[in-house]
Amino acid sequence: MKYFIKTYGCQMNYSDSERLKTLLESYGFAETETQQDADLVVFNSCSVKQKAENKVYGDIRNTKDDQIVALTGCMVKSGKEDQIVKKIKKLDVAFRPENMGELGEALTILNPKWAIEDAGGSLEKYFEINPKVSNKYQVFVPIMTGCDKFCTYCIVPYSRGREKSRPMADILAECEKLVENGAKEITLLGQTVDSYGISHADKESGQFKGVNFAKLLREVDKLSTKGLSRLRFTSPHPADFSKELIDTIASLVTACPYIHLPVQSGSNSVLRRMNRPYTKEAYEKMIDEIRTKVPKCAISTDIIVGFCGETQEEFQETYDMFEKISFDMAYISRYSTRKGTFADKKLADDVPYETKAERWHKLNDLLRKTSTANNKKYVGRKLEVLIEKQSEGDLMGRSREYKEVHIKDFDGGKEWRGELVNVKITKAREWLLEGEME
Ligand code: SF4
Repeated sequence: MKYFIKTYGCQMNYSDSERLKTLLESYGFAETETQQDADLVVFNSCSVKQKAENKVYGDIRNTKDDQIVALTGCMVKSGKEDQIVKKIKKLDVAFRPENMGELGEALTILNPKWAIEDAGGSLEKYFEINPKVSNKYQVFVPIMTGCDKFCTYCIVPYSRGREKSRPMADILAECEKLVENGAKEITLLGQTVDSYGISHADKESGQFKGVNFAKLLREVDKLSTKGLSRLRFTSPHPADFSKELIDTIASLVTACPYIHLPVQSGSNSVLRRMNRPYTKEAYEKMIDEIRTKVPKCAISTDIIVGFCGETQEEFQETYDMFEKISFDMAYISRYSTRKGTFADKKLADDVPYETKAERWHKLNDLLRKTSTANNKKYVGRKLEVLIEKQSEGDLMGRSREYKEVHIKDFDGGKEWRGELVNVKITKAREWLLEGEME
């Protein structure tokens, strides 16, 4: 009984796959390196763009006839599992990640020889599964599922469902276990991670009284006494990024001076069409406050260019904001319609492809400049780096500011992965830094 999981998309999916590995291994499966060798192939899908879905369709078509093929992730909508199995040829079973505990029964029906006993398919059970972490030093902990924000271009609230937070005691217990197992860096995950504990469903449950994201950070930070060095989170939503949260980040030992805060556009009219409930001015003020209270904090963002009806003037507003803030990094995408969203049904995707491409290039050229200028400020400084990769003649790690740092001169006879080292930065490049170990 061998399994192979192919994961697409965001960190959330990678984290789900780690739980799925533990579950499958508890059923008696062993992981295999190649898809060809597997009896069971699971595709953990992303549906953020049509292109991402098409890739999954193609990969399912390429499975072998004697393999059992399962689909999970964002392409599987709650209550529509059977529909998608009927729709995709070669697909045998589909399940929502939070219902993964029900997979055993479905697999036993498909192959009675496997005779698997179900673990149970509730959200609570899903969170009880300990992830099989691929890197024990840097771990990811989901703290919520779903999203209530309904940005007009986004499918997530429909695919992942409404926002629901995970009880704080469970999150803390998981973090503690991971730290005891050697974790030095924890990244808390959620579609809108800073909305932790405040959704309608959370309020109704009554479990989150007096609890919010800042409080959760303060509690996780206490694990610094047990060996936790770094605390990160992704991705927050500007509408819920409170002053209390900024003050908390500024005060904690483990909170890293790096914040990825998706803005999507620097034009207020575009933000309104996107249903992003903040203004460019409010966003800029927030960044100023972060930089004042968390000195030298690196900032990255997400931007969509060419959203429905985006005029040249509206794009220029985004460009100007981008230049003013001088982001360290940005994930810039060209808008494409996602079927089933509000924008798909009600707004015209009317910015020509060439215009989208031109705006995308302009912003990326600007990013090259802002990233290089920000990186140059680190030359001569000492940074703490957590080593992630080791190859002949090169160590790669990240600083607390999430800067990629490369070291060429080191003792190759030693295992460096997972080590925290002090590095003097000697060179800045567009996307990375180089330095010498102290
Ligand atoms: S905040 Fe908006 S973009 Fe992010 S997951 Fe929710 S709906 Fe999608």
